[in-house]
Amino acid sequence: MSTQKIKRVLITGGAGFLGSHLCDRYINEGYEVICMDNLITGNADNIAHLIGNDGFSFIKHDVTNYIHVNGELDLILHFASPASPIDYLEMPIQTLKVGSLGTHKALGLAKEKDARFLLASTSEVYGDPLTHPQSEDYWGNVNPIGDRGVYDEAKRFAEAMAMAYHRYHGVETRIVRIFNTYGSRMRINDGRALPTFMRQALNGNSLTVFGDGSQTRSFTYVDDLVEGIYRLSQSEYTDPVNIGNPQEVSILDFAKEIIELTGSDSEITFEELPSDDPQVRQPDISRAKEVLDWEPRYDRKEGLRKTLDYFKKAVNGDKVTE
Ligand code: UDP
Repeated sequence: MSTQKIKRVLITGGAGFLGSHLCDRYINEGYEVICMDNLITGNADNIAHLIGNDGFSFIKHDVTNYIHVNGELDLILHFASPASPIDYLEMPIQTLKVGSLGTHKALGLAKEKDARFLLASTSEVYGDPLTHPQSEDYWGNVNPIGDRGVYDEAKRFAEAMAMAYHRYHGVETRIVRIFNTYGSRMRINDGRALPTFMRQALNGNSLTVFGDGSQTRSFTYVDDLVEGIYRLSQSEYTDPVNIGNPQEVSILDFAKEIIELTGSDSEITFEELPSDDPQVRQPDISRAKEVLDWEPRYDRKEGLRKTLDYFKKAVNGDKVTE
């Protein structure tokens, strides 16, 4: 009789928005999940439903310090980082440290445990892009000394570090470039467009569109993102892969969509555009299609409808367990 070995995955940032959805997915895939988070922007409520599950454990730890995990590891998903513009304005040094020192520690652990390592990178590596849509071959247009530079450059450094561990130490690395993603467990006060617009619309307040709202983004529903990440973690592909929904929208039209979705009578007001705010952003997903056979299944309207209930509860201050 053969017993199949249970795989163990460490998810840094596992109590955050994306990290907690990944905890759920890898538990469902039969992995033992070790969730690590310092709970600065992560929230224990996001993983409360997993506590008590035999295959799940939580370690409170800041990954910029030496990481110790008992036993074997097959996979490390490195998702620890502040991830919204107001978070990295408030925590510029932690943001730089987690992307650099934290990635170094997590890669060192991967080498030590002979584990595969998957880096959560970002469309921000493209900065304010000069090509459109953005394919993985584009090197980006980032202002290193701007407000967003602390996040963008930390993630660019993290990619360089992952590739160095891959080339020099032979660590199996994977890099996902994540485009704007939404879904349950987003913090309603994280300052990003979607949670902010939802909160404002549901409370009947004006929606604050920055600039003239002509800048574009392409929003991905969290289940689609998680599917792409899972496939990448199982694939043999080492170069970066964009995961995002190419359905592009201007921020002004997006604000109007949220007003319509929520049935709100809120107005729109215009505020100053933050510095270095990218004018356009849209993933070229040819590579994800080719190497992962992945494409998004939810269009924005459907994904937003699925997310509305979560925001209604969150805005009411109800305990949200989904
Ligand atoms: N934005 C906005 N109003 C807000 C928050 C954001 O108009 O209350 C704009 C922001 O300037 C940017 C876009 O919405 O152009 C997306 O911002 P978000 O912070 O969600 O993501 P990112 O800029 O990192 O793509």
